[in-house]
Amino acid sequence: MDFTGKHVVVTGAGKGIGRATAVMLARRGATVTALSRSEADLANLAEEIGCRTFAVDLADPEATRAAIRAALPADLLVNNAGTTELDSFLDLPVENMDLLYAVNTRSPMIVAQEYARSIVERGVKGALVNVSSVSAFVGFRDHAAYCASKAGLDGLMRVMAVELGPMGIRVNAVNPTVTLTPMAIKAWSDEKKAASMLSRIPVGRFAEPDDIAEVILFLLSDAAAMVHGVSLPVDGGYMIA
Ligand code: NDP
Repeated sequence: MDFTGKHVVVTGAGKGIGRATAVMLARRGATVTALSRSEADLANLAEEIGCRTFAVDLADPEATRAAIRAALPADLLVNNAGTTELDSFLDLPVENMDLLYAVNTRSPMIVAQEYARSIVERGVKGALVNVSSVSAFVGFRDHAAYCASKAGLDGLMRVMAVELGPMGIRVNAVNPTVTLTPMAIKAWSDEKKAASMLSRIPVGRFAEPDDIAEVILFLLSDAAAMVHGVSLPVDGGYMIA
């Protein structure tokens, strides 16, 4: 897959899946712009792939809109940034519900809105991929806010697919299982919980960031020209087991 001549915006590119995606895109010819939070991660990524970077807290809607406007125009978009907090449903504070909604659901909306407006104004075609989760499909204990935010993200994706498809913008989601990143350490460090999850993944392992990045690149590419509006599990068979 060759992305030479393509400018791709990747959010949350400082760590984990976003970083792997940005690096893979750059190695395959793309020019990358990274939107993420920690300046040190962005500096480290820029040193490796020579990308433009914008440090922004995606929980802040005005700052998010300003950052994506500054990053545009772009040919392709990866809405990858996400965060999690673990709370039992009975103890879930409103603040955590709001935070996960703001970062995982609302910020991809704002970023995609600006990207799509720019694509339409320029009269070109585009494609975007949201990084969702198998949490959009199933209920994981202590993940109420996260599951709600990712199910919301997939709902948003389907409406975007219906409305933006006729404007020449393909819209899809990838829905990874546990992927070995800093977020997974936070969410799955309990060994019993991790072992129980692993036992339900037929391929017998958790995902690596590159496993997810490869599928994101496929969905961005013209090879996926007729794939539109799907939430694609990248889960080693977890969803069918
Ligand atoms: P990581 O925590 O490893 O990396 C997330 C990246 O997003 C970091 O660079 C982080 O920056 C950035 N980010 C988070 N919050 C904000 C914010 N408010 N503003 C700006 N940037 C932010 O996560 P993963 O790589 O694991 O996750 C990437 C995506 O994949 C997420 O959407 C996640 O929900 C999803 N996912 C992950 C799974 C997993 O098991 N790892 C499974 C299924 C889906 P910083 O560190 O500076 O805050």
